[in-house]
Amino acid sequence: MAMAPDPNTKPCAICGKPVDARYKPFCSKRCADVDLNRWLSGSYVIPGSELLPEDDEEQRPAPARKDAE
Ligand SMILES: [Zn+2]
Repeated sequence: MAMAPDPNTKPCAICGKPVDARYKPFCSKRCADVDLNRWLSGSYVIPGSELLPEDDEEQRPAPARKDAE
Protein backbone atom coordinates (compact mmCIF):
# COMPACT_ATOMS: atom_id res chain seq x y z
CA MET A 1 0.00 0.00 0.00
CA ALA A 2 1.39 3.34 -0.95
CA MET A 3 1.70 5.83 1.79
CA ALA A 4 -0.58 8.61 0.74
CA PRO A 5 0.34 11.95 2.19
CA ASP A 6 -2.03 13.13 4.85
CA PRO A 7 -4.15 15.85 3.29
CA ASN A 8 -4.20 17.61 6.62
CA THR A 9 -0.46 17.74 6.72
CA LYS A 10 1.28 20.52 4.93
CA PRO A 11 4.51 19.69 3.18
CA CYS A 12 7.77 20.67 4.74
CA ALA A 13 8.13 24.42 4.45
CA ILE A 14 11.79 24.05 3.65
CA CYS A 15 11.98 21.35 1.01
CA GLY A 16 8.37 20.38 0.35
CA LYS A 17 8.71 16.76 1.40
CA PRO A 18 6.04 15.11 3.50
CA VAL A 19 6.29 16.14 7.11
CA ASP A 20 7.57 13.73 9.67
CA ALA A 21 5.48 13.73 12.80
CA ARG A 22 8.61 13.86 14.91
CA TYR A 23 9.78 17.03 13.29
CA LYS A 24 6.52 18.79 12.64
CA PRO A 25 6.13 20.98 10.74
CA PHE A 26 9.24 19.81 8.96
CA CYS A 27 10.31 16.62 7.32
CA SER A 28 13.51 16.23 9.23
CA LYS A 29 15.66 17.73 11.90
CA ARG A 30 17.82 19.23 9.23
CA CYS A 31 14.94 21.22 7.82
CA ALA A 32 13.88 22.23 11.30
CA ASP A 33 17.38 23.51 11.90
CA VAL A 34 17.37 25.36 8.62
CA ASP A 35 14.16 27.10 9.56
CA LEU A 36 15.44 27.84 13.03
CA ASN A 37 18.59 29.36 11.63
CA ARG A 38 16.60 31.48 9.24
CA TRP A 39 14.42 32.64 12.05
CA LEU A 40 17.34 33.41 14.29
CA SER A 41 19.38 35.19 11.67
CA GLY A 42 16.37 37.22 10.65
CA SER A 43 15.30 38.43 14.04
CA TYR A 44 18.32 38.10 16.19
CA VAL A 45 20.84 40.62 14.99
CA ILE A 46 24.21 40.17 16.50
CA PRO A 47 25.60 43.55 17.43
CA GLY A 48 29.01 44.39 16.12
CA SER A 49 30.57 44.61 19.51
CA GLU A 50 28.86 44.12 22.76
CA LEU A 51 32.04 43.51 24.60
CA LEU A 52 32.34 45.54 27.70
CA PRO A 53 35.30 47.83 27.69
CA GLU A 54 37.98 46.22 29.69
CA ASP A 55 38.86 47.95 32.84
CA ASP A 56 42.56 47.93 32.38
CA GLU A 57 43.19 50.10 35.37
CA GLU A 58 43.00 47.04 37.50
CA GLN A 59 45.25 45.12 35.22
CA ARG A 60 47.91 47.74 34.98
CA PRO A 61 50.82 46.72 37.14
CA ALA A 62 51.38 49.20 39.87
CA PRO A 63 54.66 50.98 39.49
CA ALA A 64 56.94 49.93 42.24
CA ARG A 65 58.15 53.17 43.63
CA LYS A 66 60.53 53.21 46.47
CA ASP A 67 61.58 56.82 46.31
CA ALA A 68 58.31 58.26 47.63
CA GLU A 69 59.21 58.21 51.24
ZN1 LIG B 1 12.23 19.29 4.61
